[in-house]
Amino acid sequence: MHTRRRTSTAATVLRSVLDNGPVARSTIARLTGLSPAAVTRQYAELADLGLLREVQERRVPRATVGRPHIPVDIDVDRFAVCGVHIAVPHTTLSLMDLRGRVLHQEREPHGERTPEAVFGRVLDRFPAFLEATRAGRTPLGIGLATGGWVDPERGLVVRHSQLGWRDVPAREALAPLGLPVHVESHSRALARAEQLFGDQRTRFSLVHLFVGNVVDAAIATGGTVHHGPRSASGDVAHLRLEGSTAECPCGRRGCLQATVSDRAVAERAARAGLIPEPSLPLLLDRAEHDSDARSLLRERARHVGRAAGLLLDVINPEVLVVTEAGVIGFPECLAEVRAQVGDRATDVVPTSFGRDVLSVAAGSVVLDAIYGSPLDLCA
Ligand SMILES: [Zn+2]
Repeated sequence: MHTRRRTSTAATVLRSVLDNGPVARSTIARLTGLSPAAVTRQYAELADLGLLREVQERRVPRATVGRPHIPVDIDVDRFAVCGVHIAVPHTTLSLMDLRGRVLHQEREPHGERTPEAVFGRVLDRFPAFLEATRAGRTPLGIGLATGGWVDPERGLVVRHSQLGWRDVPAREALAPLGLPVHVESHSRALARAEQLFGDQRTRFSLVHLFVGNVVDAAIATGGTVHHGPRSASGDVAHLRLEGSTAECPCGRRGCLQATVSDRAVAERAARAGLIPEPSLPLLLDRAEHDSDARSLLRERARHVGRAAGLLLDVINPEVLVVTEAGVIGFPECLAEVRAQVGDRATDVVPTSFGRDVLSVAAGSVVLDAIYGSPLDLCA
């Protein structure tokens, strides 16, 4: 009991510094309601671990009476976290600091897409990537994020239909790298990242909708992301969309994923002769200067907005965060989603992480663990 209270006090102090740093210890006490003595004690423990440090840049004038209020901040130079994001076409390796900023990222298309081949490449690439980028920082762990059904407790990718993966022991696959491995669905990881490093209103409640090759949702209220039994929550791939006749591999028509996935939209663009082959990056480039390409993206955003409306009617969160390339790149796509959401009470925003979003998803799986129980670092 005592240990749990200590852990949660440490987490409270650490997150207060994350939000407000550089910040004086007396201010942390005021903001958190903890006693100044408790803050000083927790600061000392977190500084010993290397998570916090004093910031010396501000000179305290000599005339100041009493002890100088030297501000403290997150130590972003001592540690780093690593990310491995597995998408349908490629794997991204990333390195992030403790403020959730992406320091380095490196993407490689898959050769074969079997779990053995994909994880084999990660095991090959990772040591050199880490050595070339960490700049003296100690890595605290590896976050693995991917789409589909992911079970963090068992460290398992339960089902990823586009990759054709079932019950892949992802944590075990990365164990040879010798660092703690945390596994999570990319949609849930981004919901937590948004709460920690992004839009603070999402701390009350949010729905996160991830639309890429995979379409997933995540729901969070307070500081907790909903997992449900066996972590199966968030599968919205086969949500039925009014007005869509797209054929889905599940045998039905009008499923959300079959209508709006990167692949579906790129294939539509290729059939319309807008791009030579079905590739979302090509479509996004073309949309920069071509209104037909942008209309396709707007149409996709409309479908996404309709699906969002169904979720919002049930959940009514403070904020809907949309991670989708069109919404990230083109204000008119965001406007389409907002128009579909209409006068519901929820505000609609794009992800805070722009084009770094896959790297942030992966690294945040570790950062969430650190900010949740920082003292476990030395356990
Ligand atoms: Zn379906």
